[in-house]
Amino acid sequence: MSVDDIERVAVLGAGNMGHGITEVVAIAGYDVVMRDIEQEIVDEGYEDIQWSLEKLSEKGIVDEDPDDVMARIDTEVDLETAVEDVDLVIEAAPEQMELKKEIYGDLTEFTPEDAILASNTSSLSITEIATATDKPEKVVGMHFFNPPVKMDLVEVIYGEETTDETAETTYDFVESIDKTPIYVRKDVNGFVVNSVLGPFGDEAGWMVSADEATIREADATMVHERGYPMGPFELGDLTGIDIGYHVRKEAGKPVPPIVEEKVEADELGQKTGKGYYDYEDGDGADYGHEDVSEDFDWLRIEGRMVNEAAKLIGNDVATPDAIDTGMRLGAGFPEGPCRRADKIGLEQVLDKLETLHEQTEADRYEPADYLVELVNNGHTGEDAGQGFYEYGGDDGDREYRTLNVLEDDEVLAIELDRPERMNALNEDLMDEIEHVLNNADPEAVRVVTFEGAGDRAFCAGADIGGFAGAKPWERGTITSMFETVNDFPKPTIAKIDGFCLGGGHELALACDLRIATTDSEFGFPEINLGLLPGGGGTQRTMRMIGEARAKELVFRGERISAERAEDWGLINRAVGADEFEDVCAEFVDDIVEGPPVALDYAKKVMNRGEDASLEAALTMESQSFGLLLSTEDVLEGTSAFAEDRDPEFEGK
Ligand code: NAD
Repeated sequence: MSVDDIERVAVLGAGNMGHGITEVVAIAGYDVVMRDIEQEIVDEGYEDIQWSLEKLSEKGIVDEDPDDVMARIDTEVDLETAVEDVDLVIEAAPEQMELKKEIYGDLTEFTPEDAILASNTSSLSITEIATATDKPEKVVGMHFFNPPVKMDLVEVIYGEETTDETAETTYDFVESIDKTPIYVRKDVNGFVVNSVLGPFGDEAGWMVSADEATIREADATMVHERGYPMGPFELGDLTGIDIGYHVRKEAGKPVPPIVEEKVEADELGQKTGKGYYDYEDGDGADYGHEDVSEDFDWLRIEGRMVNEAAKLIGNDVATPDAIDTGMRLGAGFPEGPCRRADKIGLEQVLDKLETLHEQTEADRYEPADYLVELVNNGHTGEDAGQGFYEYGGDDGDREYRTLNVLEDDEVLAIELDRPERMNALNEDLMDEIEHVLNNADPEAVRVVTFEGAGDRAFCAGADIGGFAGAKPWERGTITSMFETVNDFPKPTIAKIDGFCLGGGHELALACDLRIATTDSEFGFPEINLGLLPGGGGTQRTMRMIGEARAKELVFRGERISAERAEDWGLINRAVGADEFEDVCAEFVDDIVEGPPVALDYAKKVMNRGEDASLEAALTMESQSFGLLLSTEDVLEGTSAFAEDRDPEFEGK
């Protein structure tokens, strides 16, 4: 069975996850039947979907009429009717093994022989669930994250008997519903994301329990220095302190005293009004920049997460790439632990773990064999050319981690690919943009386009966390990416759909042309952070739209609409979402079909002329004009004009 054979899907459970999964699957165009045990629950789930679809439609995230999407969803209470003609079942019933086994027993009886049976379980064994059926080869884990409509990641988990065909079809199905799958090749507890995330809260718990840090120091440093979306204690309060507690207890692992205390006091986090922070009488997770501590040993936390990742890789559960993708998309990490460890240096990570292991003799610090092996082989990270990943130099081929790059028909299309961070710029992304442009063949490329992945942003700024620790003298390179874009010899176009803010706005301004959807928003929020736009924003904006408007944007830090941006001359066009791709394609086609040499010169003369005296600029212009007169393209252009046909420029 392949993904093309999947037409009808059943989702079991209309709860939190079930209704969200049903919605995502229906949006992708599949017929879905959502089943729960009582009509009332199914109806509630159905209404939740309707409400959510209206919102997505208002925000322009779903283009199709919500009624048309709803028309693909059936609801059902009778299990047999729900699953008798489906190709795929996604089970999202409560997290109880006995209940799941009962369901899978029934599914064996009622589903067509070929149907894939996927479980959304977060923590139960796929292998064990599969024992309740007579077709364990068809049982697979399909672990969505909450809420499914927003979260892009799905873990595809092999049980012991799952065949490649089942897992691969599931993987393709996940892609077909516009989510990002990662393979978890063995049915390990916690799968990938929760395994690696475990030490984030656990190690912070041990540190605070031993009075080596305060809760606020830990949270502030991990967020403001290390770029995590939430501090470990804040996250514990959000998910429920008892959840992590039970996971560790069940796994027979020791629990940090502070966690024990909280569970005993029934202070479980937001849900009880109090956890590590006070949500009823206090201000909740109220740590700030002032709580960042230089002494906070963040490498203990990151080192343990890296160690967990190394165990998964060494045990053939997942690849470094799958782990990093999982942590970025599933946990909102600024970058994956493998990539980060390669930057830190694996020998440092190993040294930290070994030292802690010697000092405490605690199992949790015991270095993974795979990590030791990497270090022993000299594969200590990016500086060594190899760590979890292999690193090429600045030349030649490289696998991009933060970009999708496609070169086709003389168009170099660069997509910023960090949708989970609204494509915010970080060091890797900027470095990769420079690498793409520095290695692009100007003979083969006639135009470059930039766009953002996902449906929310072109690029919403810079990942502050990634830069916050940088010293002023280390920041010198931050502007070089913008200059590389600005100076690229071929025309560049920014295709903007969504937020275009801060560093993202500066990237768009470094391009020659900007086309945006009317839903897009522009601005320089830097001033609100006590910063100023540092990637050319103050200067390019002044030159482009004049001092008054530029200062308004920079000083007030407020966002403006695409209409206003067009009115001010900040962008070339603001067009409706339905016309956007067509208008962009027209711009691209005009340039691709235009005379390459003349376009190069026009760009150069216009960019350089801007900062020269009028006299010097006019001299540059006329010299370029003279040079172009001797090109074959001019002959072609003038002959085509005389012959009333379209020219075919060769760039000679
Ligand atoms: P939930 O309690 O919100 O929903 C479960 C639904 O299943 C309920 O509506 C219940 O009536 C229904 N149900 C009970 N027996 C059923 C049966 N035999 N057939 C069909 N439906 C039945 O729970 P949830 O949060 O949606 O979790 C569902 C599954 O998803 C669990 O396995 C959970 O581990 C997993 N999961 C949850 C999250 C999360 O954050 N909530 C994230 C990922 C995975």
